[in-house]
Amino acid sequence: MKLLVDLHTHTIASGHAYSTITENALAASRKGLKLLGMTDHGPSMPGAPNLYHFGNLSIIPDQLYGVKILPGVEANITNHEGELDMPLSYLDHLELILVGLHPICYQGGTCEQNTEAYIKAMENPYTDIMVHPGRPDFDMDLEKIAHASARLNIPVEVNNSSLSTIVDKARAQDNCRSIARYMAKYKGPVILGSDAHFWDRVGEFSEAVELVRDVGISEHLILNTSPERVLKYLALRRYQRSESNIKGFTRHKQGIAL
Ligand SMILES: [Zn+2]
Ligand SMILES: [Zn+2]
Repeated sequence: MKLLVDLHTHTIASGHAYSTITENALAASRKGLKLLGMTDHGPSMPGAPNLYHFGNLSIIPDQLYGVKILPGVEANITNHEGELDMPLSYLDHLELILVGLHPICYQGGTCEQNTEAYIKAMENPYTDIMVHPGRPDFDMDLEKIAHASARLNIPVEVNNSSLSTIVDKARAQDNCRSIARYMAKYKGPVILGSDAHFWDRVGEFSEAVELVRDVGISEHLILNTSPERVLKYLALRRYQRSESNIKGFTRHKQGIAL
């Protein structure tokens, strides 16, 4: 399996990551990647960039070292309604919106509440990709999530860092295996993400590749294999957003209006 895309990476702007976008792009280029997502944490995470960071991303060149850069965010779900910590006026200008649950940014709840928050965020027209459902911070019904992913055609991530660097590794690995099995069963779109917080982890998918092979996720469900497919999918999401606005979608419900 040749993986040409890493949509989930962090720079020093995240506050607890340690490389610049230039260093990440160089690492991506050396690994043969064609597309790199720059997805620093949304503003409700301690140390994360403020909104000015996201408002100024257009100054980053379209390509660095021959790698196309997608300026984006890893937005935080903030409550049981699945609301995000980014105003729509900022999300509107980003090329890639990852969404996930993180401690501190989300207070937690029952398994049902967490699952509902996650699926509601997945239904948000601004969400492009749901990240690391396998992290053990919050209990969730992973089968329901895989089912929703297939129903909504929203990719769910198999996160390489959850499998390799997280503290509660055994539980994370169990969870990741479960969600991967359910993704194989319901055939929703899958994305592998490095979640790199240092340049040498960019494009690092070894554990995730082993897992998706193990559970039998077919290669055509994995978006990373084709930069063209990823770009086409993101363009489709832009279109769907404009459609949902036309249909009178209540924008203020999908993010904090500033
Ligand atoms: Zn994360
Ligand atoms: Zn991340």
